[in-house]
Amino acid sequence: MKNFRSIVIAGIAVICFLVAGVMAPGAVSAKVTFVTIGTGGVTGVYYPTGGAISKIVNKKSKQYNLKVTVESTGGSVFNVNAIMAGDLEFGIVESSRQNQAWNGKMNWAKKGPQKDLRSICSFHPESVTIVAGDDTGIKTFMDLKGKHVNIGNPGSGQRGEAIELFGQAGINWQKDIKAEGMKAVESAQMLQDGRIDAFFYTVGHPNGSIKEATAGNRKVHFVPIPDSILNPLIKKHPYFAKAFIPVKFYPTASNKKDVPTLAVKATFCTSKKVPAKVVYAITKEVFDNLEAFKKLHPAYSVLTKQNMLTGLTAPIHPGALKYYKEAGLVKYINKALIK
Ligand code: GLU
Repeated sequence: MKNFRSIVIAGIAVICFLVAGVMAPGAVSAKVTFVTIGTGGVTGVYYPTGGAISKIVNKKSKQYNLKVTVESTGGSVFNVNAIMAGDLEFGIVESSRQNQAWNGKMNWAKKGPQKDLRSICSFHPESVTIVAGDDTGIKTFMDLKGKHVNIGNPGSGQRGEAIELFGQAGINWQKDIKAEGMKAVESAQMLQDGRIDAFFYTVGHPNGSIKEATAGNRKVHFVPIPDSILNPLIKKHPYFAKAFIPVKFYPTASNKKDVPTLAVKATFCTSKKVPAKVVYAITKEVFDNLEAFKKLHPAYSVLTKQNMLTGLTAPIHPGALKYYKEAGLVKYINKALIK
């Protein structure tokens, strides 16, 4: 009786297996590795960057048995934490946050250095973009004092830059301003509706949120960051640089000239635990198809294979390094990143 029951169960199992095979032709799920890239808000540049990577790599899904998906997230800080927790395999992270996570600073001061973090490459430059209503009287950075400002949600990169800039300017962000912690995707509408006076967004240009914020009925402008705040901050932290917001992308903003500000780079991160063959495949496809990749967003126009190996702090993942060796790109990598 027992034997008969096992035969029946085994038979049912075989039938289920066959039916599943017929129902889902081409499904090779047992072999395919699924990985996810954490990005940012859907109106930023991280989200289309994740999309660009997945589009290029998924063309070769069969060859690599790899499927890349993209997730909209709270931004850099969220992405580092999700990669470290194993919830995401990859993430786009500001060069500043990558440095701080690796060294256990700022958001990671309590948790300590994130030693499993690995870097792959960097992408477009991002600039701290402060947008303010013309009717608020905010002309200089110091005028933000006493104002209602969205500095960004806790998982975002811009929140970190805002806090560091206020600190450098001697403004206590918790006391001297009315700080909001909303996602960047909400900022444009909040500013246009008069619910805030200004917002911070560290982002590549051009991008949808800034276009939306500058194209409404309320007249708005970008707030410049003076050298007196920028220079000491850049001196202290090599991951910061000086840049200009190109106003040509936002013709309805009130500024007539490009606006000086603080800049970082968008970097591509992963964990030590992600298999080398997965990281190799993604690195190879992005670099081998760089010209096609660059066409996917105007913010990538400045990218070269050489400058994509700068702005990194965490060691290069062995899978990426294998590709850089094959492609003769190792000479562009800071030796301290090769472990
Ligand atoms: N730099 C932002 C952050 O780290 C994201 C910008 C974007 O989504 O393009 O949160």
